[in-house]
Amino acid sequence: MGGDPELLRGLNPFHVGQFWSDHMGGRRAGNSGKRAAGLEIALWDIIGKATQQPVFQLLGASRQKIPVYAATSRLLEINQHIEQVKSMINLGFKALKLRFHRPDPWSDVEVVEAIRNEVGDTIELLVDANQNNFSKGYKFWSRRIAKQVARELDLLNVYFLEEPLPRNDVEGLAEISASVDMFIAEGEHTPTVDDFKSHLLAGSYDILQPDITLAGNFGIIGLRKVSNVADFFGKLVIPHVTGNGNFFIMLAATLQAMATVDNCPMVEFPYDPPVLIPETMQALLPKPIWIDADGTIEVPNQPGIGVEIDEGQLGLGNLTKDR
Ligand SMILES: [Mg+2]
Repeated sequence: MGGDPELLRGLNPFHVGQFWSDHMGGRRAGNSGKRAAGLEIALWDIIGKATQQPVFQLLGASRQKIPVYAATSRLLEINQHIEQVKSMINLGFKALKLRFHRPDPWSDVEVVEAIRNEVGDTIELLVDANQNNFSKGYKFWSRRIAKQVARELDLLNVYFLEEPLPRNDVEGLAEISASVDMFIAEGEHTPTVDDFKSHLLAGSYDILQPDITLAGNFGIIGLRKVSNVADFFGKLVIPHVTGNGNFFIMLAATLQAMATVDNCPMVEFPYDPPVLIPETMQALLPKPIWIDADGTIEVPNQPGIGVEIDEGQLGLGNLTKDR
């Protein structure tokens, strides 16, 4: 999550708004490279612990449960995908994301078709094409291919298509968004609230996907800010949550922020057994964050960002590393 702890020297944790303005706020901080979101989350955690309240209660909760979607990561055989989707439905998931990374995008479309034929509309299907310029390993789609794929997915009642083009292709994304009813989603690498401005003005995203720490400059304040700005444009926010690193801290903090806004229909939850599973991704928590039978996650409600690390596990990790 990064961030230089020196930035915190002499700061009153309750002045987290000042910290955000100084190091993370829009135009001034856009290229600062400070990546201070991890520190901002820590400040909120201190405030919550000092007042014995979870952050979402302090900020003014609008709900206590938030729907999530299972973000899968692997390309499987069609029958394996179908089995996986069925097991996700049984676990309670109401939405699931597939990756479109095959050399031939029409093979990807076939997977969605096969799943729809098998399970109907019992689960929302989401698609991530990872066509942003950070994903160099994937085959490049032209605007035409992106538009054709979007049209097919629209007919298959897909909920959103994520990153059909690089994020800098504002006009191309706007064209696709205007051509289908399905939502177009993007934004996991967008570094600041300000960087969403051109996309909102152009209508290129229906759903904004800021990440609380990945690009470094959102944090809890930034997620709330971008949600409110998006709301003015009638847009939705479905935050990106990466499965790497301190996943559970980022998820907990994202849930705290999203429990205070009205235009966030769900949050990303990386889950693709046996590769992405709570047992390893949340090993430091005594009790992993997990979905209820209705496909929602209860916002962690202990003081601060709502989660306590099992320090015994942490010590063991350090010891192993030192040796
Ligand atoms: Mg993505």
